[in-house]
Amino acid sequence: METQFDVVIIGGGPSGASAATILAEYGHRVLIIEREKFPRYHVGESLIPFTSLPLQRLGLREKMQGTAFVRKHSVQFIGTNGKGSQPFYFADRYPEDVAQTWQILRSEFDEMLLNHAREKGAMVIEETKVLKLLRDGDRITGVLARHSDGREVEYSAPITLDCTGKESFASSQLKWRIPDPMLNKVAVWTYYKGAKRDEGIDEGATTVAYIPEKGWFWYIPQHNDMVSVGVVAEGKYLTRDGVRDLKQIFDREVENNVWIKEYLSHGRQVGAYRITNEYTFHSRHCACEGLLLVGDAYCFLDPVFSSGLMLALKSGVMAGDAVHKCITENDFSPVQFEEYGRVLREGIENMRKLVYAFYDKNFSFARITRKYPELAGQVTDCLSGDVNKDYTDLFNAISEFASLPDDLPVGGPLVSHDSSAAVTA
Ligand SMILES: Cc1cc2nc3c(=O)[nH]c(=O)nc-3n(C[C@H](O)[C@H](O)[C@H](O)COP(=O)(O)OP(=O)(O)OC[C@H]3O[C@@H](n4cnc5c(N)ncnc54)[C@H](O)[C@@H]3O)c2cc1C
Repeated sequence: METQFDVVIIGGGPSGASAATILAEYGHRVLIIEREKFPRYHVGESLIPFTSLPLQRLGLREKMQGTAFVRKHSVQFIGTNGKGSQPFYFADRYPEDVAQTWQILRSEFDEMLLNHAREKGAMVIEETKVLKLLRDGDRITGVLARHSDGREVEYSAPITLDCTGKESFASSQLKWRIPDPMLNKVAVWTYYKGAKRDEGIDEGATTVAYIPEKGWFWYIPQHNDMVSVGVVAEGKYLTRDGVRDLKQIFDREVENNVWIKEYLSHGRQVGAYRITNEYTFHSRHCACEGLLLVGDAYCFLDPVFSSGLMLALKSGVMAGDAVHKCITENDFSPVQFEEYGRVLREGIENMRKLVYAFYDKNFSFARITRKYPELAGQVTDCLSGDVNKDYTDLFNAISEFASLPDDLPVGGPLVSHDSSAAVTA
């Protein structure tokens, strides 16, 4: 088999498949190396409205309309007493092709994306694990991968995309990972069949339901009468009194929100209880010579506002365009990715501020919109994923109630040896 490509992509999740689709459409020879056999399980099942833009660019919005995925029109927040805020209906602010989004099953969604990349001409090898980045001095020249039969093969290209998700293969190897200690949460989740869902336009709403200590449940109605439901909080809160069993952790928190308790009481729990820590992290750089980071591999942000897939698809599309320019100009120098890093960081920082506010005990959306009704639209925009805008007024208002973080001075390409010294320092 061929081992020399225009682009090697590590990971065939949403970010890798999106980048591959764009690059294959441009006519480049693209190889995706994926560790698992698709369809494979993955958490992260709710899309936000502005995911529509990359879906449209990828030519997937129409395919999405033909799927069984539940239509999502709104998000609502429920207090511990079971009382809800007014739902945020996206159609109050956006045209239908943005406002209506979906609750997905990742095994089906991710497989659809990967097959789409194949249809556009990308080559995909599954059940093959990337073991290491190949280098020529400071330049990344490809990867060493192990196939399921044990064969180890070197695949090379002038540029490699790291799309390995929150395991962040390259960022870990290069020691670029920067934790975000205020956002170190744990999630425990499972699935219910036949649990209650609202009717009509509200059937596919995402519900975020509070528990004490600024923890929260997600409640995501899916097709086949399934609901994905999980609780997120600090580990020491979830495991208080020495409770370690996942079912016990989950069941105890269900008692802390009367809405969740009532809605789940109509269904039965199905399958395993799962856990992950969600340590938010950022990468010090988005690129170096021969390497570009995309999706969660570049930044994993606390999932409270379901921004992960929007950012994965958006960065995949942006990466595809940026790499196409490199190939066309035969110039793979890291400065080519300055704009890529700047735009992504701007969006991440806006979402990150909203996440910090969410976890601040003095903050609630109701307080902001009561005092500043004129800012309600900006709240909806940021929650919907329209993240590359000037939100100065909104964050000035929020900072009256919550401590917001400064922007992190990270995320640009590694352009010189001097900055390389700073990385390892
Ligand atoms: C608890 C939780 C809840 C979430 N909820 C939501 C939500 O509601 N909405 C939302 O939008 N996002 C959510 N997310 C985030 C979302 O799951 C991610 O943002 C999204 O999966 C990122 O896509 P990706 O392609 O970057 O990475 P991934 O989807 O993780 O794909 C990475 C791929 O790389 C492969 N891979 C990894 N290492 C290697 C290797 N060495 N060699 C070969 N292949 C490799 C993996 O097998 C995988 O298929 C949630 C995340 C968590 C943890």
